[in-house]
Amino acid sequence: MRESENEIKQLEKKAILLEPPESEREKIISSVKSYINSYINELENVPSFKKGAVELGKTNFCKPVEIEGIISELQSVFQYGINASSGGHLGYIPGGGLFASSMGDLIAAVTNEYAGMEFGSPGAVAIESQLIDWMKSIFDYPENAVGNLTSGGSVANLIAFTAARDQHEIKNEKIPRSVVYLSEQVHHCVMKAMRIIGLSDVIIRYIPLDSHHRMDVEALQSQIEEDRNDQLKPFIVVASAGTTDTGAVDPLNKIADVAEKNKLWFHVDAAYGGFFILSEKKKHLFEGISRSDSLVIDPHKGLFLPYGLGTVLIKKADAVLESHHYVANYMEGAYEGATIYSPADLSPELTKHFRGLRLWMALKLHGLEPFVANLNEKILLTHYFLSEIEELGFNKGPEPDLSVSYFYFPSMEQLQIPDNEFNKKFHEFMLEDGEIFFSTTNISNKFVIRIAVLSFRTHKRTIDKGINMIKRCLKKTKEHFNN
Ligand SMILES: *Cc1c(COP(=O)(O)O)cnc(C)c1O
Repeated sequence: MRESENEIKQLEKKAILLEPPESEREKIISSVKSYINSYINELENVPSFKKGAVELGKTNFCKPVEIEGIISELQSVFQYGINASSGGHLGYIPGGGLFASSMGDLIAAVTNEYAGMEFGSPGAVAIESQLIDWMKSIFDYPENAVGNLTSGGSVANLIAFTAARDQHEIKNEKIPRSVVYLSEQVHHCVMKAMRIIGLSDVIIRYIPLDSHHRMDVEALQSQIEEDRNDQLKPFIVVASAGTTDTGAVDPLNKIADVAEKNKLWFHVDAAYGGFFILSEKKKHLFEGISRSDSLVIDPHKGLFLPYGLGTVLIKKADAVLESHHYVANYMEGAYEGATIYSPADLSPELTKHFRGLRLWMALKLHGLEPFVANLNEKILLTHYFLSEIEELGFNKGPEPDLSVSYFYFPSMEQLQIPDNEFNKKFHEFMLEDGEIFFSTTNISNKFVIRIAVLSFRTHKRTIDKGINMIKRCLKKTKEHFNN
């Protein structure tokens, strides 16, 4: 007995090292504080992209390191790749990284509020629930719709498709006869989700697009009729409200008509574009979105949050509960008196980070207005960029619906250089330069440069820097092919 008491005492001496005293905490906080302040202050002056790989080598983590040492290691690790917090990130779908959200994350981590079950943490669950209700009201979803704050759009889509699958009882021999309707520009996470939930054998119909890269609704309707005549089972149509490649918003209201008429589950992936509904100028594009059965939106895109917050909204609670609700023996009592669905009933997760706080904190601290101003500013910046680039002799994509578009330099007949070859070289020079980051894509076999304006740190001066960089790189590319 004595011996074990002694051992406990010895172990406690080591164990309490995980709880630094206030003086120690102050030291760590002050190092982190000066790091993040200088990080943010310097953001305008660092490149948006720097090519390089990071090799950390093996460590066994046996020896503790002082906070200053850790921060300088991070600084060297972080210098490569896309600077995702920079306003100069105009590639893929830019992220944000609101400071207010980082404070929410910090508080969520320190308090370790358990955001999985209402019983354990009614406060955290109420906050997440309030956020979901707010998003339901934005998209005019009914009060009894449910929602979940996920890690991102991919998991949000996964939850929605699982609900659609269960609602339509797509299983066993029904799978290979069930048909999914997508646009050619649908995000790849949709296919991935289908495979994960056991639907890799469904029939996929890619519906052609119009000249604005939006789903051709007549083609959708006739494909459904054809499939019906072939005794197949049309099951779900997935529309995009802001495709990743071109930012196109599918004609949601017309697709809703087709879905309703044919009794399909109507899903809208608005991970990128959804929050543009808050812009008075763009609201009309979203007409019909409230008629969807499920909807995905990503606050870590359209509300500028740090990575790690997507949202799914679903009208039929039962369809979601079918797969996700679970009462384990060790959780008995956890459901008694529950007044709202807990996040764990609506998602594959049980224990999770209280991720809602990062959104709640940002909305509370700033109010909604600056968010909407940012979205409107991004729309105008995209137009400004495209008109500037046209003057430099570039061809551009169709009038963008939101804040994503593309451009390419047209063939220079006198040089006999194929467009794609010229633009690939041009993009290589852009990456080498790195002041502003642009990504690329393929539109009808054409290699094009993409622009996506969605960082809250992108302003007119950022776009002007991008234009200047493009001028530099265009000159270099022309010289390259002239030699
Ligand atoms: C980004 C995006 C996704 C995937 O979301 P993640 O948050 O990256 O998981 C899905 N659909 C669309 C339209 C997107 O833009």
